[in-house]
Amino acid sequence: MKSLLRSLLALAALGVLTGCQTVQTTGRGQVGVDRTQMMMVSAAEVEQASARQYSEVIAEARKQGVLNRNARQVQRVRGISSRLVAQVGAFRPDALRWSWEANVITSDQLNAWCMAGGKMAIYSGLIEQLKLTDDEIAAVLGHEIAHALREHARERVSRSMATGLGVSVVGALLGAGAVGQDLMSKVASVTFELPHSRLHETEADRIGVELAARAGYDPRAAVTLWDKMASRSAGAPPKWLSTHPGHADRQRDLAAASERVMPLYKAARR
Ligand SMILES: [Zn+2]
Repeated sequence: MKSLLRSLLALAALGVLTGCQTVQTTGRGQVGVDRTQMMMVSAAEVEQASARQYSEVIAEARKQGVLNRNARQVQRVRGISSRLVAQVGAFRPDALRWSWEANVITSDQLNAWCMAGGKMAIYSGLIEQLKLTDDEIAAVLGHEIAHALREHARERVSRSMATGLGVSVVGALLGAGAVGQDLMSKVASVTFELPHSRLHETEADRIGVELAARAGYDPRAAVTLWDKMASRSAGAPPKWLSTHPGHADRQRDLAAASERVMPLYKAARR
């Protein structure tokens, strides 16, 4: 009986820790992203791991002298990102209170990311090599911000937990320190290494286009952005592109989504 009780208590503890939860991270918006997500780790845990991961990346970039080197470029990126961030309430009001941050990392990589909780970076190579317009930078950042709003990192970490011995289960056995480290490396790999699924990409595309339109950036720039990306990928595809869905499908979907949000864009311009 005692051992049964102990087992039940252990199971209850695991249930609390791994607590599988179905959530709706964002509202539908005009573009109608409407999918519930299964989460096995809390938003707070992922945010904490992301914040630690982020400070390491930023500290390393600073050490290498590649953080925010071009003041005018940084100002431009931050101006665009703050206009986009001002619109996130259309999808989730709580995100208006996140500690958003935008940085430019000097690198030839064509890359950009936004972590859980709103910490983002765009690489100078993407801006300079593709000669991005403000509307196109808004398309890039809107897409990345959308990944954060939808908590795609949390969902992907949850999925990886569902397929193996969960982080929290390991943590329950080894202590809290192990959870922190394991979760941090998982967050890093879903942010910097593993490709997003096509489903996540499509959601980020649609929400990104709407954020751009609401902020007064031409949503159709997402289409020209991806044309530029594709023309660069004749040889080895840039990392950002190789992790994203097929070009023709994406362009069709982006064109339809931007058509749908044109009234928002026109209203924002007035
Ligand atoms: Zn993406």
